[in-house]
Amino acid sequence: MTNLDEGLIELRREIHRRPELAGEERETAGLVAQHLREAGLEVTTGVGGHGVVAVLDGSADGPTVAYRADMDAVDTRTSALPFPRSDRAFDEGFASRVRGVAHLCGHDLHTAIGVGVARALAQGSDPVRGRLVFVFQPAEESLRGARAMLDTGLVQSLAPREFYALHCSPFPVGTIGVSPGYGLPGLDHLRITLPGGDEAGSAAAALTELAAEVGEFGTVGYPRSLAEYQGVFHSLLDPESAASIQESVCLTQWTEQAPDGRPVANVLLRVWPQERLLELRGQVKRLVEAAGGHVECPGDPFPAMVNSTDLSTAAGRYLSAALGPESVVWARASWPFNCEDFALFLQEAPGAQLYLGVANAEAGMDGAPHSPDFAADERAIGHGVRAMAGLLTDRLGVRGGDGDGLGARSGGEVRGRGAVIPGSA
Ligand SMILES: [Zn+2]
Repeated sequence: MTNLDEGLIELRREIHRRPELAGEERETAGLVAQHLREAGLEVTTGVGGHGVVAVLDGSADGPTVAYRADMDAVDTRTSALPFPRSDRAFDEGFASRVRGVAHLCGHDLHTAIGVGVARALAQGSDPVRGRLVFVFQPAEESLRGARAMLDTGLVQSLAPREFYALHCSPFPVGTIGVSPGYGLPGLDHLRITLPGGDEAGSAAAALTELAAEVGEFGTVGYPRSLAEYQGVFHSLLDPESAASIQESVCLTQWTEQAPDGRPVANVLLRVWPQERLLELRGQVKRLVEAAGGHVECPGDPFPAMVNSTDLSTAAGRYLSAALGPESVVWARASWPFNCEDFALFLQEAPGAQLYLGVANAEAGMDGAPHSPDFAADERAIGHGVRAMAGLLTDRLGVRGGDGDGLGARSGGEVRGRGAVIPGSA
């Protein structure tokens, strides 16, 4: 283990001990800004809440490439998957000190890795070519942070050509996943009401019946156990099972009372692909209206996160060459259960989110984000830094002369020249 890795593991643990919910990332952002300034980056804080944007200018003119990490923790009372907890403790000495808040989605690792990538590239033996923009975003869990940062216009003014990110995943530590053309579903929220009947009870029963019919649009249910969850993840890798989940609708429902006392059925639809979002909204509307009901949409659907086919493929090829083909897994479908507001950055510039393997089955570390026992093998931090620092350096070296800047298109060659990272083994 290198000094760089040890310092980042300590940073991760510091963030893990003091998790902050979406929109409250003051201390985490402060730590990030301090580390980035010490590394010599130009840092702007308070971007769309507690967002941090840091710029690393290289030695010569070149493209601008952006890297994003998210910083917020999970409300364990509402956002942990309903799996039974084990009594294992993996974070002896650095457990969360905040009741009901924990880094169950691995954003503490993402943040430490982002700092590590920035430091490695700022302090490498060769200055980078072009410009790197590091975006540390707040409020990912509420899907509000990316929008808030973009609303300031700062990221757009830096005009990145490509955008990258990674997310912890239940693949084994030492591996990293790419998913060309796939990603994470879009989200729609619908509220369904029926005109009041003579008896309040019958109106509620009719609504329950209608909600059950709407539920039939779901094609995949939330996993009920860790084994089921891991099964779905691994099915993304198998061509046959991946083929069967090219389209997915994961639906959750709950009822509540409107201020006038009428029952309201809420429906959340997570839909892949993106094109199916509005189509499905229309299908639900037609079904409900045929039953005499009304559908209200509190907002526009939240977009799906779509990885660029070309840039994900190029990333997978680069990582295969740099780390060995056994280190790279190729996902051939979208994970159906979680949305991601990196989607909005990918609307500004094409790019890819990669799946960083953090599981260690022998040690009982599940690596499954949002599981109540989420635990990550911390060696993933060093792997993530080396993978992403190398990838970003590679992308800065790719010529954009033909207008698309895609190494994958120009014959599919991979530049094996990884970043020179201090202390990398
Ligand atoms: Zn997450």
